[in-house]
This record gives sequence, structure tokens and C-alpha cells, in this order.
Amino acid sequence: MKLSDLIGNALCSNKCINCGELFEIYQEYEACPACDSILRENIQNNTVQINDINISADKFLFFYNNATIKKLVLDMKNFPLGQNCRYFARIAYECIVNDPVFSDFDIVTHCPRNPHKESVVGYDHSACFAENIATFCEKPFFKLIKRKIGGKEQKKLNLTQRISNVHNKFYFNRKYSCKGKTVLLVDDIVTTGSTVKECARILKEAGASKVLALFILD
Ligand SMILES: [Zn+2]
Repeated sequence: MKLSDLIGNALCSNKCINCGELFEIYQEYEACPACDSILRENIQNNTVQINDINISADKFLFFYNNATIKKLVLDMKNFPLGQNCRYFARIAYECIVNDPVFSDFDIVTHCPRNPHKESVVGYDHSACFAENIATFCEKPFFKLIKRKIGGKEQKKLNLTQRISNVHNKFYFNRKYSCKGKTVLLVDDIVTTGSTVKECARILKEAGASKVLALFILD
């Protein structure tokens, strides 16, 4: 093989986020064609119906019980895997671009993770997911919500504990404004919805006209 071919292959091949195989493709992509079609069969593009006064509409992309998707989400939670974030953002973009409700927003933001977790892993996967959606949609991404250091992890708590745990844990980032704007609020997984409800409340309190919530898994 010629050196130019080797360089060419290195530039044009991607490592699949699902099977780990290298595949050649002439555009930036994250999953090999075979895995991509399998993953896409699982897209739900469905509503969660969180039923909260501060959330105008909500949507999730996949069901939580799908082991393959769940692994890809947990991987990006535990390791700085930008390609997983970008893949899910690509799916999200495709699901919202032609949706009359979800395609109409001004700002993308996210439910921030525990700053301690962020410093351990080295990044906030939820911010990474949100930022990639913003890029695909050509909208601004702002970190509108900040999270205080400390507090317990939501997944270790029951419903009542989760509700009291989120209270006073998040606050609006005064560096930005969302007055009169429609905000797309994204997160990775919704379980009880207490985190997203609290984040939506803060956005509405800061003047957002509408909050649309989007998740990878329900
Ligand atoms: Zn693959």
C-alpha cells in the first residue's frame, strides 16, 4: 500500500462507537453503516409527557430498556466520549428538524451534572450532547443553569428524596439571559423527571417564554 493511501485511509476511517471496528466513510460519522441501521431501528422519537407546568413539550429518543443504547449512554457518562455525544445529537437533530414544535427554539441548554462528577470524568456529557445539538441546529448553546457543588446523586435516592434533593441545587447563570426565548433543555436520561422539572422552573423564572425538554433515554 502506498503511503498516500495509508494517510488517506487514516483520514477517512472512523472507529464505530458500537462495534469498535474501523470503517471508511467520506464524511464525519460515528457508527458504521451496519450498527447505525441497527441503532436507528430503536429510535422512538416519542413524548414522555412529564406533565409539568413549566415544560411546554417533551420528547425522548430511545427507551431505557434497550441494552445497546443504554451502554452507549453509560459509556459517554463515564468517559469523555465526544463521538457518542455527537451521534446522539445527530439522532436528536434528525428527530427535531421537521417537528413543528421542537424545531422552533432559540437557545440550547442542559441539566448540568454534579461538578464533582464532572471533574472526575473530565467533562459533562450532557453539555457535550447539548452543544452538538446546537451545532447541528445552528443555534447558540449557553450554560444557562449552574449546579452547586455537593449534594447526593439522584440515582441513589427514592422519589421523595429526589424531589427535596434537587431543590436549591440549581440556579440561573446570570451571565446570560433567556428572557422571551424558547429554550431547548436537554439531558441524557429521565427517570422521575425531578431534575428536569427544577431546571425548567429556573428557566421560566428567568423569563424563558417556553421550555422544550429533550432526552436520550426514558
Ligand atoms: Zn459498528
